[in-house]
Amino acid sequence: MYNRKIILISIILILIIFLSGCSSSLLISEHKAKNGTIDLTQVQFDNELVQLDGEWEFYWKQLIEPNELKKSFMTGYIDIPNTWNQFIESRESKKGYGYATYRLIFISDENRRLALKIPRVRTAYKLWINGELITSSGKVDRTRTSMVPQYIPKIAFLESQYGTNEILIQVSNFHQRSGGILEGIKLGSEEQILSLRYNAIAREIFVFGSLMFIGTYHLALFLFRKKDKSRLYFGLFCILIGIRTLLVGECFFIYLFPEFNWEIAHKIQTLTFYLGVPLMLKFFICIFPEYFHKWLIILATFIGATFGILVLFTQARIFSSVNYLYQIWTIVAIIYVLFILTRISIHKDKDSWIIIIGALVLLFTSLNDIIFLSPWINDNGPSILKNIFKTPNLSSFGQLIFAFLNSLVLARRFSNSLRQEEIMTKKLTDMNIHLDDLVLKRTKNLEISAKKIEQQKLELERVNNYLEYLALNDSLTGVWNRRKYDEIMKIEWNKSLEDKTPIALILIDIDDFKLFNDTYGHMAGDQCLAKIGETLKSSLSRSTDILARYGGEEFVVLLSDTSEEDAMKTANKLRNNILELNIHHRASSVNNFVTVSIGVTSVVPKDNLSYRDIFLTVDKALYQAKAEGKNQVKFRK
Ligand code: GH3
Ligand code: MG
Ligand code: MG
Repeated sequence: MYNRKIILISIILILIIFLSGCSSSLLISEHKAKNGTIDLTQVQFDNELVQLDGEWEFYWKQLIEPNELKKSFMTGYIDIPNTWNQFIESRESKKGYGYATYRLIFISDENRRLALKIPRVRTAYKLWINGELITSSGKVDRTRTSMVPQYIPKIAFLESQYGTNEILIQVSNFHQRSGGILEGIKLGSEEQILSLRYNAIAREIFVFGSLMFIGTYHLALFLFRKKDKSRLYFGLFCILIGIRTLLVGECFFIYLFPEFNWEIAHKIQTLTFYLGVPLMLKFFICIFPEYFHKWLIILATFIGATFGILVLFTQARIFSSVNYLYQIWTIVAIIYVLFILTRISIHKDKDSWIIIIGALVLLFTSLNDIIFLSPWINDNGPSILKNIFKTPNLSSFGQLIFAFLNSLVLARRFSNSLRQEEIMTKKLTDMNIHLDDLVLKRTKNLEISAKKIEQQKLELERVNNYLEYLALNDSLTGVWNRRKYDEIMKIEWNKSLEDKTPIALILIDIDDFKLFNDTYGHMAGDQCLAKIGETLKSSLSRSTDILARYGGEEFVVLLSDTSEEDAMKTANKLRNNILELNIHHRASSVNNFVTVSIGVTSVVPKDNLSYRDIFLTVDKALYQAKAEGKNQVKFRK
């Protein structure tokens, strides 16, 4: 980051040095004209240059040729460079229209070949030196229709004579709000003046070329990626101010095409400025959308369009009279942008400080040009302002710096997004490479969780089975309970009904069990019940035989597909096995050991019978066994 800042600052410094180096290597002499005369005998023309500033003779509303001077009446002395507006204000309209002759005598101590650098003059002039017409621009005349305006800085060569030399300039203006010689005329040796001219042109062509290049480059970028509008606005902005560069300053375009209509050139030059402001704002809104208000661009477009229409449909003398309003608006817009950019740079965006520098340069150089060429400052402004802003046409240079810094920001954003893309691409590639692994891993995980789910399902089933077992089992004896008996009975009954097979039922009741409890206690009773349940269970051989505790000390056995004979056999075996347990029961009315009475029945189910009927039958059989002395098996049909 630190290194990049150094590189950036170096680039800016090189630009500034290069651009300023083109103009400032020459010494400008301090000599000033007084009462229409300037003494140049002390000037070393080999290394010095004179700006012919100071008091010139001024002949308002007179176009004097060298031989007509004696007949003329001088209006007074005028300060050059300056507009003539203030000078003529009391006499004429405030518009600055009119014509006049300027005259200056310079005193030389030798005959030598010199050159003049004549800036743009508003808006046409004709120049004589020592009675000889040397150069002109446009056509000077007394009316708007007969004169022809032209802006073109020129160089003129002359032979200075020992003693007094006369410079005579006729100027006419009906096309601009301020007339006269607004920029200084320079006098120097041929080489000096030529190098001044070449350097200025080189500088402007450099600025023009750079701006056009930056502009077309960004337009091309926009064409390849239409989504990014900031490049469109920025590209157009650069091209507009690039074109403008050729129409101001040394007016290189007019140098190439001297016949080009002054009005049209002035319209183009003004339009590039008027359209540049909304384009610049659009650009900023594009790159910092969250910071700039939308209404600003609407306002800027509206103002730009209004002034643009004025430029298109009126003459320069009309639209240039309101130009200062647009200049004020521009300054306000630049200050607003600076304010917002400062906020942005305080908040977060690292790029905005670069644009801030650019905007500051643009602001300062624009202010310079506006103030330099403003008739108000020229006429009424404090001299300190004139001393600060004394170089014309700095804004092209400011615009280049501004454009250059902005293109840096765009470039940085571009490379940032490229880098982002690279990172994303790498991530994607990595992901693709590891996709198989990933899928395998995921599948394994899925399998593991599927296994887990399966295990949990089994566990759940087990728990459910256990719960069911608990619900259908008798906890004391470990045999099925009455609910299970009822359930199975229903199923077996229907099965036997279909198959027409016999179904047998055995009902077992412990004899005198109340007395057993009374004699040995309830705990012993429970143990006895458990023992009997266990014995009954182990005595049943078939897996289909169902044993259940039916009530307190009663058990029921369900034998599917069992005849009367087999059922009796099983019942007797059961009775015997229990007796053989030899559980003492001294209170028994039947035996010394615990005994049971058993009822048996067997029936082939029929439609008119229910499984409840068969239980009633077996209950009766048991009752009979009890009645006939207990400890026996009774069958009933
Ligand atoms: P009978 O020979 O006529 O069957 O006489 P009994 O005493 O066995 O029959 P009764 O119906 O009069 O009494 C049943 C007794 O069984 C009453 C109760 O004390 C006992 N009993 C019932 N369930 C349990 C039990 O879960 N544990 C114990 N210890 N005793 C029970
Ligand atoms: Mg009983
Ligand atoms: Mg009993």
